[in-house]
Amino acid sequence: MQILFLGAPGAGKGTQCKKLAAKLKVPHLSSGDMLREAVKQGTKAGVEAKSYMDKGVLVPDAVLIAMFEEFLSKPEMKGGFILDGFPRNESQARALDELLSKLHTKLTDVINLETSDDLLEERITGRRVCPNKECNAVYHIKFQPAKKDAICDLCGTELVHRSDDKPEVVKQRLKTYREQTEPLIRYYGEKGLVKRVNGEGEPEQVFESLLGTLKVACK
Ligand code: AMP
Repeated sequence: MQILFLGAPGAGKGTQCKKLAAKLKVPHLSSGDMLREAVKQGTKAGVEAKSYMDKGVLVPDAVLIAMFEEFLSKPEMKGGFILDGFPRNESQARALDELLSKLHTKLTDVINLETSDDLLEERITGRRVCPNKECNAVYHIKFQPAKKDAICDLCGTELVHRSDDKPEVVKQRLKTYREQTEPLIRYYGEKGLVKRVNGEGEPEQVFESLLGTLKVACK
């Protein structure tokens, strides 16, 4: 399966993609995680991306397209993959179409993870993440706290509050989503690929409805 996730920041894409990737045993390609790693490593792409990320606006398309071209061309992608955060506008979506056709593959499903606006800001501002790139686990101070305060349950790394999860940047990220990414629901809808999943509720409950929608056995 080649699955793309759409949904506003805070809709729970990261959490659901990780669970689904583990279940299907396919790679999870998160553009945000890749960019944050590039920033941490101080690569050319990372240096270019940082100022855009800090403002909550999109990093130039060319950076993302080159990054995904590199990853999607790897042999381990042949058994399927999950895309999270890319594409984020129509020109990236067109570039992805071209790239996938060059690789003789295509998207099988586009999941639109739906959440009401009221929930999003609270979900994002309370989010804490594990900065270990092998882990990248996601927590929430109220809805999904770590067992030991500010320490990742899975790998013991100290959790961080992403600088773009602060309230002043979150508003811009939501605006960017509405203006540039939400139109992709229609873009993929016209190709008959979009499936809606209710992103509200406990992560386990959302995951079950996701599996039901994708018709993947729960056990
Ligand atoms: P995320 O972790 O998916 O919320 O992404 C964090 C930030 O990375 C976004 O606010 C953007 O600045 C940048 N970003 C992630 N994915 C993309 C993309 N496909 N195109 C442009 N910028 C992106």
